[in-house]
Amino acid sequence: MINLLDLTKEELEAKISPSFRAKQIYEWIYKKDVNSFDEMLNLPKDLRLKLRENFYFDPLKKVKSQESRDGSIKYLFALKDGKTIETVLLPMKDKEVDENGEITRHTRYTVCVSSQVGCKMGCSFCLTAKGGFVRNLTAGEIVAQVLYLKKENNIPHHRRVNIVYMGMGEPLNNLENVAKAVKIFTNNDGLAISPRRQTISTSGLSSQIKKLGDLNLGVLLAISLHAVTDELRTRLMPINKAYNIASVMDAVREFPIDMRKRVMFEYLMINGLNDSLKDAKILVKLLHGIKAKVNLIYFNPHEGSEFTRPTEQNMVAFRDFLQSKGVTCTIRESKGLDISAACGQLREKERNDNA
Ligand code: SAH
Ligand code: SF4
Repeated sequence: MINLLDLTKEELEAKISPSFRAKQIYEWIYKKDVNSFDEMLNLPKDLRLKLRENFYFDPLKKVKSQESRDGSIKYLFALKDGKTIETVLLPMKDKEVDENGEITRHTRYTVCVSSQVGCKMGCSFCLTAKGGFVRNLTAGEIVAQVLYLKKENNIPHHRRVNIVYMGMGEPLNNLENVAKAVKIFTNNDGLAISPRRQTISTSGLSSQIKKLGDLNLGVLLAISLHAVTDELRTRLMPINKAYNIASVMDAVREFPIDMRKRVMFEYLMINGLNDSLKDAKILVKLLHGIKAKVNLIYFNPHEGSEFTRPTEQNMVAFRDFLQSKGVTCTIRESKGLDISAACGQLREKERNDNA
């Protein structure tokens, strides 16, 4: 059996005849949200039968979901082989209503997708790292996460959705399948999510950043920096031994990016470790000449973690310093804190509950 979501439209065209049926199938799956081949009414019966015998498009089963007070919803999915991954739906901006009760702006959603089961990178602050690496997700398993959340939450096809590859796993360690997922998401007969609304987040595999750039997909790039000295960064992120800060910055400088867009730098603030103004000063220097946007994230403590949450005061002082130097900086609201939203936390909880 083939997961149909693994196929680009061109690949599907090559597999069925006549090939124009591929467009119709794509539309049924991605635009009309059907759950079975039998609902694809404009396809001949024998084709529907053939499709049913050879393909499926439901690679995910929901194990559980949890809604946070701020409206974000975290899903734990089981894949066909029983392995589990997490996906988060984040309503970004609330809908706005005018004085007549008409909606003037709809809620904007961001879906945070996983790219691997587990992760090889071993970052010391991250729960996903704890479980080690299990396997790469296929393109279709990545695509399915967005499709499932859109369906489940009745998000209409034309509503704008952003994708961030910031769930479990290191996307650039699974570049081939991630690049394919980007293309499948982008197809106009499918979900039609522009690459400019897709952000790939990496722990900084410089050589892979270069490869991603060479593919010229048009996606946005986010770098999980988290520290400004190699000494501390290596302690937090072992990958820094192979690719130090300077090499990451070089790769970023060469990365092709839309003139109007910026490279995002994720900076996890950890109490007393990387949250001082001294760190902020070095960060400003590092970012010199890069069109950057810094996202400060509150470290989300988990059981057994050696680190603690930074104070709001330090977060604000850090942000204000960057802004005074002309660096765009935001503090990420701790979306879904009460549902343990940081990467890997729901899955780890489930594993422990079952242990
Ligand atoms: N592997 C890629 C993408 C997934 S990591 C990367 O590292 O960029 C997803 C994000 O979750 C990272 O930015 C990481 O900083 C964040 N994260 C991991 N553990 C966290 C924690 N305990 N609290 C808050 N954010 C965390
Ligand atoms: Fe992997 Fe990212 Fe977690 Fe590091 S932070 S272990 S790269 S998922």
